[in-house]
Amino acid sequence: MTALELISLVTQLLFVGLFVAVLLAALTRPSRAAWDTVLLFGSIAAVVAVTRFAALLRLPDAPWLTGLVLLGLSVAPYAMIRLVDDFSRVPRWLLPVGAVAFLGVGILGFAAFTTAPILVEVVTIAWFLGVGGYSAYAFAQAASNSRGITRSRMTAVAIGALVFIGTIVMAFVDALAAAVSLEALTQLGALVAVIAFFIGFAPPAWIRRAWREPDLRRFLERSIHLATLGDERRALVEIQQAAAVAFGASGASIGLAVEGRPVLRYVNAAGDWVEYPDDAFIAGQAFREQRRIVAMDAGQVDPDHADVYRSSSATTVIAAPVTSEERRIGVLSIYADRAPIFVEDDLWLLELLADHTAVLLESRKIATAESRLRAREDSARLKEEFLSAAAHDLRTPLTVVLGQAELLERRLERNPTAPVDPAGVMRLAREARRLRDLVSELLDAQRLEEGAAVMDRNPADLRSIVESVRHRYHDQGIDLKTTLPGEPLVGSIDVPRFEQVLDNLVENALKYGSDGVLPEVHLDQHDGEARLSVVDRGMGVPEDEVDRIFDRFYRATNVQSITDTGIGLGLYICRRIVEAHGGRIWVEPTPGGGSTFVVSIPAEVPVPETDQWSAPAAWPVAGSEAAADA
Ligand code: ADP
Repeated sequence: MTALELISLVTQLLFVGLFVAVLLAALTRPSRAAWDTVLLFGSIAAVVAVTRFAALLRLPDAPWLTGLVLLGLSVAPYAMIRLVDDFSRVPRWLLPVGAVAFLGVGILGFAAFTTAPILVEVVTIAWFLGVGGYSAYAFAQAASNSRGITRSRMTAVAIGALVFIGTIVMAFVDALAAAVSLEALTQLGALVAVIAFFIGFAPPAWIRRAWREPDLRRFLERSIHLATLGDERRALVEIQQAAAVAFGASGASIGLAVEGRPVLRYVNAAGDWVEYPDDAFIAGQAFREQRRIVAMDAGQVDPDHADVYRSSSATTVIAAPVTSEERRIGVLSIYADRAPIFVEDDLWLLELLADHTAVLLESRKIATAESRLRAREDSARLKEEFLSAAAHDLRTPLTVVLGQAELLERRLERNPTAPVDPAGVMRLAREARRLRDLVSELLDAQRLEEGAAVMDRNPADLRSIVESVRHRYHDQGIDLKTTLPGEPLVGSIDVPRFEQVLDNLVENALKYGSDGVLPEVHLDQHDGEARLSVVDRGMGVPEDEVDRIFDRFYRATNVQSITDTGIGLGLYICRRIVEAHGGRIWVEPTPGGGSTFVVSIPAEVPVPETDQWSAPAAWPVAGSEAAADA
């Protein structure tokens, strides 16, 4: 046996083996695509069988034999366009016209091979090149349009088809042109084609495993963070999207079981919850019966909802129950507008994704329960802290207010016409104001705690914020020293909130600063960030407490003896606001004594459109209104 004969034998055995493999697959899971694959490889296997038997029985080269072989071979392009139609629609006329053309080629082979062999060969070449070539092209196109394992399999099929068609055409050219011998090339081509077909239509387990890995990885990467995502509906929608992407399908949906009620909850296109009876749709059936369902033609399997499937282009639906340790969590379904041709891969992936979905949903449950518990603990602790702060810090000013008011009251009772005591009234008003400020600080801190930190951010020039605060202090007779950059420094800012930060820092600098030395405010730019520093020359912050002073209710040890101050919420509020702006706040010692509080938030110098920069009209320039009001 020569090498070429050996190659030919191996190729033929592989084709027959492939036929047996696809036949078994079609018998276990019949579908049109499966039978079309049987048609393709059955015809080739038949040709192999006929030629082998003819050789074995030493039959003479009869025209009927050649006609039979030609007919068998010509089935291949026709089977290929049927396969193309199975996964991506071909024009409607193509299949009937293809069938007629196939019959024509077949009859011509029988009738005219002896009388006009050249004509028969040319027609057959045209048939292979035209229809087979079109199919190979369509396979390649389908490969580039699909994803995951289907793409890999489709690519192998496309290569197989292309090489197969090329090989057949070469074989005919070989027969036509006596001068050239292409036998070696055709034998090799046939071998390459059958290997590619094998990989595409019946890939061995290790190849499948290698192909599946990226699909899974993609799903896990996209979905792993969803275990802790707060919004359940969004998490579900994202898991669905991740599943659809992993599949390369047109969509996916998850129905969740509801305890104690026979319904499944879905998230609809508008993002709202919708409930259906837990046996509705193919998904419901899979859930009720706790088994996976493959509905190649969804409308036929569930005719009651045929219109729904049609309108959502869900021709094929595959669904699997999502369970965790016998607990029925819900159901995952994947839908596609064409029946998948490689069902077994899809089922494998579906089950895996259903399992992962169960894990994700379960861990979400645990995470939510835990965070709810933590939130409850936090809010209990917060309430306690607020209560004790309120009891402790509000009592002093309240006692003063009450004492002063009672004093005035007694005076009035004793002598209703006595002149008012201006100092007493002023003291009363001052303490009442302090009380009000403390209460607002408490309320504000609580509001920030609940997340209502920064409501309305717009592009604003930070220079105007500094200016507006400076004006306000100027009106109270306090002249802050400020330095500002020459160019605008624009950030996305909630202006009133940011003014509150600056106010607070200046207030502290006055409170804890050194008598007679006024605080300074500097604004400058640092690598895409605006830096706002408030400098005082006062008592400073003990080094080991520089971080803790931004905590709720924390007051540094060096100020605790000072009465008439706050309750340790101001810097906490500042930190929350600054962080909500994507920035940071910290304290540094001022060289020579005192503290420098620094706020840094993202901001930039806008590129001027004309020589002179002016904010677009729609931008509220920070502080301008406040400054105008002042
Ligand atoms: P409060 O001023 O009401 O105590 P804050 O939250 O504003 O609360 O400040 C927390 C603590 O940080 C203060 O009690 C004080 O110990 C320290 N601190 C704040 N600003 C300064 C400053 N400019 N100089 C020194 N210490 C300061």
